[in-house]
Amino acid sequence: MKAVTLRREQVYSGNLLLVNARHPLRQSMTPDQLRPLSGKTESRPSQVCLERKTALVLETLFATIGSSSSLVPVSGFRTRQEQEDLYASSLKEHGKAFTESYVAAPGHSEHETGLAIDLALNQEEIDFLRPYFPRDGICGRFRSKAASYGFVERYREGKEALTGIAPEPWHFRYVGLPHASVMDANGFCLEEYLDYLRDFPYEGRHLQVHVENKTFELFYKKAEEDLTRLELPGYLPFQVSGDNREGFIFTLWR
Ligand SMILES: [Zn+2]
Repeated sequence: MKAVTLRREQVYSGNLLLVNARHPLRQSMTPDQLRPLSGKTESRPSQVCLERKTALVLETLFATIGSSSSLVPVSGFRTRQEQEDLYASSLKEHGKAFTESYVAAPGHSEHETGLAIDLALNQEEIDFLRPYFPRDGICGRFRSKAASYGFVERYREGKEALTGIAPEPWHFRYVGLPHASVMDANGFCLEEYLDYLRDFPYEGRHLQVHVENKTFELFYKKAEEDLTRLELPGYLPFQVSGDNREGFIFTLWR
C-alpha cells in the first residue's frame, strides 16, 4: 500500500472544481499554470489562454477533428479583473436579467479556473458573450468527440435550476477522464456528478467505470480539518482533484 497525505487547501484545486454561484473560486491561477492556445489568432479578440493540460488536450481534439480554422476559441481563462470588467460592461449594455443568466459574478466564473472555453463557429460576426456553436457540422463533430477527451458541455438545457446558468451550447469545461464520459452517459451536470460521487466513499464501495477498454476506480474522500491521510494500492497510477466544496475525488487506473 502507498500512504497519501493531502493538505486542506488541495480541496480548492484540480480538474473537478465546482465553481458556481454558491462556490467561489478559492485559489487563483498563476501565469505559469497557463498556456496560450496556438493556431490562428486573427479572428480572436485577444490571445486565449487555458490551464496547461486543458490547452494541450483541446488542441489535440481540434487536430483530431481537423477543425484548424473553422472553430474559434472566443474566451478561455479570465483574471478576476477581466471577469469584473466583463460583468460590468454586460450590465451596462444588456441589463441585469441578461447578465445574471449568462455572465457569472466575479469570483464565481469557471473561466477563472482556466478549465473552461467558449467556442464559436468561425464566421465574420462573432458574438463574444453568446457565440454561435450549432449542433451540426464541425461543431457537431467537436461535440461527439468532446467527452472522450475530457470535455463536457457545462450548461445544458433543463439543468438551469442546478447550475444557475442559462443553456450555453458554446461553453465547454475540462473535467478529464473518465469523468466526462460518465457525466455524458448519465446526463449529469457537474453539480449532479459530484453529488453522485459522494455515494462512493473511500471507506465504502468504490465506483468502477469502463471507458474505451480502460477500467477506472473512483471514490470520494471528505477532507479532514488539516491533513487528510489515506492508503492506496501501491501499484496503481492515480489522480486526485478537490471538489472546491469539502472533499477529494480519487481516480485510479486499474
Ligand atoms: Zn463561457
